[in-house]
Amino acid sequence: MNILVTGATGGIGKSICDLLAKNHNIFATGRNEELLKHYKNYLKADLSSFEEMKKLGNYIIENKIDILVNNAGGYIYSPIENVTPQQIEEIIKLNLEAPLYLISKAVPYMKSQKFGRIINIGSISGVLGEANASIYSASKSGLVGASKALALELAGYGITVNTINPGWVDTEMGNSSAEEGDFTKEELIECIPQKRFVTPLEIAGMVKYLISDEAKGVTGQSINLCAGLTCGY
Ligand code: NAD
Repeated sequence: MNILVTGATGGIGKSICDLLAKNHNIFATGRNEELLKHYKNYLKADLSSFEEMKKLGNYIIENKIDILVNNAGGYIYSPIENVTPQQIEEIIKLNLEAPLYLISKAVPYMKSQKFGRIINIGSISGVLGEANASIYSASKSGLVGASKALALELAGYGITVNTINPGWVDTEMGNSSAEEGDFTKEELIECIPQKRFVTPLEIAGMVKYLISDEAKGVTGQSINLCAGLTCGY
């Protein structure tokens, strides 16, 4: 099957591509061309540019993508009164508008063949609040809402739509956002029931399950993969 993964050069994206490459054709996209050369099929596209996002939309159409993984994302940690309109636009564009646009380009082919899998990488910050990360939380909540609506809209076409919400993951973003916050990594780990960050491979494993035939009944779901962080305290 043809799988397109955004943010394919980052921690979680690369892990998804590497795990699925054994049995599928990977179409990778990201901003770093040097790292993208690791893949046979790739397109460099910066999703903050509308022109490049359109190019990626065409790439999706041309390559008959069966499975779309919207993984690219950005984070901002800032009290709301310090956030600039540009920062709001950037985060909403990358984390919410781009996934919706790419879905709109992937769906016609999926509908025509009565099969498709759409997986959005959200965050537990989209299902719980995260103080000083309201823009990020809002963008990730948007993915949860959109996934439910699309699951209903596309249920008759063999297309499933789900959001995976990682907790803290051991990647560049996970580690740098931990550094930006008010707590040390050790203090954060202390608050996680399993006392550890999730690994990128665990997220990749959930993607592998969601694209499998066994998961065809799983749609519209918001799956927290967070080492217990969302269970309470
Ligand atoms: P990462 O920083 O390793 O990777 C992020 C990827 O997004 C990179 O490939 C980067 O190039 C791409 N990206 C960023 N801005 C882009 C742009 N303008 N255009 C195109 N691509 C762009 O981070 P990661 O941890 O692998 O994050 C992957 C996803 O997981 C993100 O959506 C993130 O919000 C989500 N997530 C991560 C964590 C965590 O703790 N790491 C927790 C919850 C959710």
